[in-house]
Amino acid sequence: MNDEEGSSPALPFVYSAEALSKFISLNPDQKNVIKQVCLIHPFRIPLFYLKLMDSSNPFCPIRQQAIPSAEELREEGDDDPLKEKDISVTPVLMKRYPGRAVFLISSECAMYCRFCNRRRVAGKGWDPGEFFEESFGYLDSDTTIREVILSGGDPFMIPPDLLDDILSRLRAMGHIRTIRVSTRVPVVDPARMTGEHFRIVKRHEPLWVVIHINHPLEITPEFLENVKRFRDAGSVMVSQTVLLRNINDCENILLKLFETLVAAGVKPYYLFQLDEVKGAQHFKVRLEKGIRIMRALRAKASGLAIPQYAVDITGGLGKVPVDYVYLKERKGKRAYIENLSGIKGVYADDGQESRCSKCGLCK
Ligand code: SF4
Repeated sequence: MNDEEGSSPALPFVYSAEALSKFISLNPDQKNVIKQVCLIHPFRIPLFYLKLMDSSNPFCPIRQQAIPSAEELREEGDDDPLKEKDISVTPVLMKRYPGRAVFLISSECAMYCRFCNRRRVAGKGWDPGEFFEESFGYLDSDTTIREVILSGGDPFMIPPDLLDDILSRLRAMGHIRTIRVSTRVPVVDPARMTGEHFRIVKRHEPLWVVIHINHPLEITPEFLENVKRFRDAGSVMVSQTVLLRNINDCENILLKLFETLVAAGVKPYYLFQLDEVKGAQHFKVRLEKGIRIMRALRAKASGLAIPQYAVDITGGLGKVPVDYVYLKERKGKRAYIENLSGIKGVYADDGQESRCSKCGLCK
C-alpha cells in the first residue's frame, strides 16, 4: 500500500490523506505527516470505521487508533521487539511455545492500526502464499504441534476459498486439535464477513475466534451481528485488547468494554501491555497503571469479564501475566492475603504433601 490516490482497488477504504480530508478537516501539515508515516506503516481505514469517528474531536479513541500522527516517526522501540524472526521455522510460521505455532496467512488488514506490533509485515504488500507449502510440510512433520493460531495481517482478508483450503489441510492433520483465528475484521469492517465466511467457519467448527477490540465504541450492532453468526457457526469467542494510552487506559472504559463483550458471548481473554515496537511508543501505558486498572476491574466486575493482563517480554522471552499481587506475606504456614477491598486476611496454608496418582499422563 502507499499513499497515492488510485493505487488501491475499488474497496470501501480510505487510504490517502486527500481522501481522508473529505471526511475530517486536515491542515497541510497533518496531510504531510500522513504521507510521511505511510512510508513506514501504511494507512487504511474502512469507511465503516471512519464513520464511527467523532470528526470534531481530535482525541476521539477511534480516530487515534486509525489516523497516523507525527509521533509514529519517533525512533524509540524495535521493528521486531518480540524477535519473531528468530522463532520462524518458515517465513510465515513461528513456534515460540511448546505445542503451538502461529501461521501468518495474510499480510493484509482491513485497517492498519497505528499501534500494530507486526508493522514489519502487515500491509507491506508481500504474498505469504509463497511459503504455504513449506509451512504445511513443517506442520505435518512436527506432531508435537497441537494448536495452530491463524494470524497475519488478518486471516479474513484472504479469499474465502483459500481460507477454506487452509482450514481443511489443518483439520486433516490428526495431531492438530485446536485452531485459533485472530481477527479485527468483525470490528473495523464487519460487512466484509459474508455468508460464505460463516459457512466455512461452520464447516471447520469449533474454531476459537479471537477478536481484537479495544474500546466500547467499537461494539456496534454490526459487530454484534457478526458475533452472533460466529457463535451460530459453532465458534468459541474470546477477545484481546491492547492497553492504549489516552484511548482505553481507564477502568470505566474497560469495564464497559469487557462487560458488554461478556453479555454478547465473548470472553475477554487478554489485556496486552503494548509491545516495544518502533513507531507506537506514544501509546504506552505504565505497567503500574495497568495493574491499578486490573485491580479496580477485579473489584467491580464478574470474573467472566476479567481478562489476563499480560506483557510479551521484549527480546522474545515470551508472554507472562502481570497483575496485582494479593498474597502479601507468609509467616510459617500462615498466608496473609488481601481481599478486593484491600483488607488483609489470613489463610492457613497447611495442606499435606501430595502423592502421585500414577495416571501415567506425564510419560
Ligand atoms: S489488525 Fe492486527 S495486524 Fe492488522 S494492523 Fe491492526 S494490530 Fe496490526
